[in-house]
Amino acid sequence: MTYGDPITAPFWEAAARRRLLIQRCRDCGVHQFYPRPFCLKCQSELVEWVEAAGTATIYSLTTVRVAVSPEFHPPYRVAVVQLDEGPRMLTNIIGGECRIGERVRVQWKERPDAPPLPVFEPVVTEPGPP
Ligand code: ZN
Repeated sequence: MTYGDPITAPFWEAAARRRLLIQRCRDCGVHQFYPRPFCLKCQSELVEWVEAAGTATIYSLTTVRVAVSPEFHPPYRVAVVQLDEGPRMLTNIIGGECRIGERVRVQWKERPDAPPLPVFEPVVTEPGPP
């Protein structure tokens, strides 16, 4: 069974294996998300799927306190994160406290009738040696 449409199906097939895929243009090298049938920068149709590192920086962040979907129970945090490859992704933040500009990494939120959803959690940096 495939999930999504022909453009997004590869993303969801990878998500089922907890791999975060984004598109990369074979002509100009730019990464993009969401998936599209062509490169937003140079219009090339030679876009391929590559695995993202799964690390990102929080670009914007808000806490939702009103229920807008039965799938999400407030309060929860909605963020735009900038992947290390460049594209920004609308997502949820799980785990501990965090602020704009902090580092996050991808985790996968299980769903009953769909592939897991990529969410992000703060990267806990261990204090280095003195
Ligand atoms: Zn391009």
